[in-house]
Amino acid sequence: MWPRCKGVTIDDDCIVCEIDQENAYDLADAYKDAPHSHFLNCSSPAELCEFIETYGPLFLATKDGRPVLLPRDDKQPLKSLAFYWKFQRWLKSLLKLIRALKDSTGVRQAMIDFFDADLAADRGDLNLRSFRHEAPAGLRLAQFMKMRDPQSAMGLGEWLRNMPESFVLDAAAVLVHASIVVRSRLLVRRKGMRKGRAVLARPVLVNLGQAIEWMCWEDEFLKNPLEFCQACERSFRPKSGHRRKYCGNKCAQKMASKEYRRRESLKKRREDRIRNKASRGRR
Ligand SMILES: [Zn+2]
Repeated sequence: MWPRCKGVTIDDDCIVCEIDQENAYDLADAYKDAPHSHFLNCSSPAELCEFIETYGPLFLATKDGRPVLLPRDDKQPLKSLAFYWKFQRWLKSLLKLIRALKDSTGVRQAMIDFFDADLAADRGDLNLRSFRHEAPAGLRLAQFMKMRDPQSAMGLGEWLRNMPESFVLDAAAVLVHASIVVRSRLLVRRKGMRKGRAVLARPVLVNLGQAIEWMCWEDEFLKNPLEFCQACERSFRPKSGHRRKYCGNKCAQKMASKEYRRRESLKKRREDRIRNKASRGRR
């Protein structure tokens, strides 16, 4: 169970809130409401406050900000607003890299974006590695570089920008492979008043951050990953497994009328050119 929060406000770079343990919820059950999509769509501190009120903090920490991964009394919501944005950037760039890899377009740039986000998330005292217990994906990429291009004297970031085109898809695969890790276990529950016990296969989710990663994994498992709207860039869950470019009718109409205006202006310019040519010919 994961707590929601109450009285969420932001003071400088600090999230101030109180844990609302009475309104705790099951992280895996919340998957149906797509909190990972809500989190990715937070674009202002106010939206982030609303998210934390609804779904609780991403992580719990001690008073001095160290990660709490086991139940203990002095835990409190992670306060750093910057850390929320770091994690959002990391996740968004990862999902965009996965999409680029599937489509085989813009893979190098998506890889550079994810690598930079991964590096930023790993920097500082408060880093993603201490909450996730997973090595940064960039480390795997360093091994890949050593194997494929042992003579290179470039730094990893520079190599990413300059590596031969033939390495790009394999390098992106290494990064995706090293990103989300999911653990599962068997839970045993009472079956109401009956004697036997029910055995449930459930993911191990110790915090909301991990749950959000698992939800992205689950999306792939169910072959219904989040998409990013090509008009407003917000993430959305497609109703079926079919690809959709836009999050809704509003964005689809907006892009259709933009495309119409673009075609009309092209047509007008073409007609003007023909008219000018004809009038020059007459002179
Ligand atoms: Zn949209």
